[in-house]
Amino acid sequence: MTTQDGMIRHDWSVGEIAALYELPLLELVGRANAVHRQFHDPNHVQKASLLSIKTGGCPENCAYCPQSAHHREVDLTRDMLMDPQTVIAMAATAKAAGAERFCMGAAWRQVRDGKEFDAVIDMVEGVRRLDMEACVTLGMLKPHQAERLAQAGLTAYNHNLDTSPEFYSRIITTRTYQDRLETLSTVRAAGIELCCGGIIGMGESVRDRAAMLHVLAGFAPHPESVPINALVPVEGTPLARRPRIDPLELVRMVATARIVMPHATVRLSAGRSSLNREAQILCLMAGANSIFYGDTLLTTPNAGIGEDAELLAAIGPLQPQHTSASAA
Ligand code: SF4
Repeated sequence: MTTQDGMIRHDWSVGEIAALYELPLLELVGRANAVHRQFHDPNHVQKASLLSIKTGGCPENCAYCPQSAHHREVDLTRDMLMDPQTVIAMAATAKAAGAERFCMGAAWRQVRDGKEFDAVIDMVEGVRRLDMEACVTLGMLKPHQAERLAQAGLTAYNHNLDTSPEFYSRIITTRTYQDRLETLSTVRAAGIELCCGGIIGMGESVRDRAAMLHVLAGFAPHPESVPINALVPVEGTPLARRPRIDPLELVRMVATARIVMPHATVRLSAGRSSLNREAQILCLMAGANSIFYGDTLLTTPNAGIGEDAELLAAIGPLQPQHTSASAA
């Protein structure tokens, strides 16, 4: 950790962030861990549960996403919006399994007023009644809709930037970066926390990764929640043939996000299923402090609940049966 680390700054340059990302790995992780310990309990990993409340048929053309209606080769069943009571019951089950936060995603371009939005409001209220944090991702939204979500008690709104402003048009052309920034400012204006991050492994450069973190760290205040995803290439999407990224790239991204946004909850999100236990623990050392819990993440496979329980047990105190071999 340098004397500068741990300062809350909104004036990072892309070059400074890229230089952090490119540090020798152990120095980067060490500095990120020092910042992490300064701002967070290093032993607490928040478990969040993510449910797709309306799957598929999305009019946007995000190149990584199997839910886009543009990617006709994808084998995915489209579903209608789920019933609020079913969703709330699933949240209760997630809570019983240890989840503190319940995130609900609908594959919409934008929120429309009417019966479906009313149902989402019921879901948010129901999740909050369970004393869980509630987060939704519904696409673009207008100020009065953000106000309704705030009144329903919504904790956070997820709307990812996905990548850098420069690389963005290679991934999505149906909505602009500026559209995304406007939605984020609408959310903030309503007093709702921001959950905003991106994806690595889509063919972007290190500078693109740094540029995305630069946009996020430029928000004042910083987003409270920053999901860091590794691309899960899905058959039938334009990115289906992208190679999986080296897990250490994810470690670098997490560590860099931790240093430039010390307060944020950095969420190890999609792509975790291809990391072994030790790589996941390295991400937690590097400053990730939340994992998504459950067998699927919207529509892509995630680490199973049993594996997660083992992971969390492995980072807990040493169990007595493991100590006998050490005496000599
Ligand atoms: S990422 Fe979201 S907005 Fe983009 S196609 Fe998928 S569901 Fe639609």
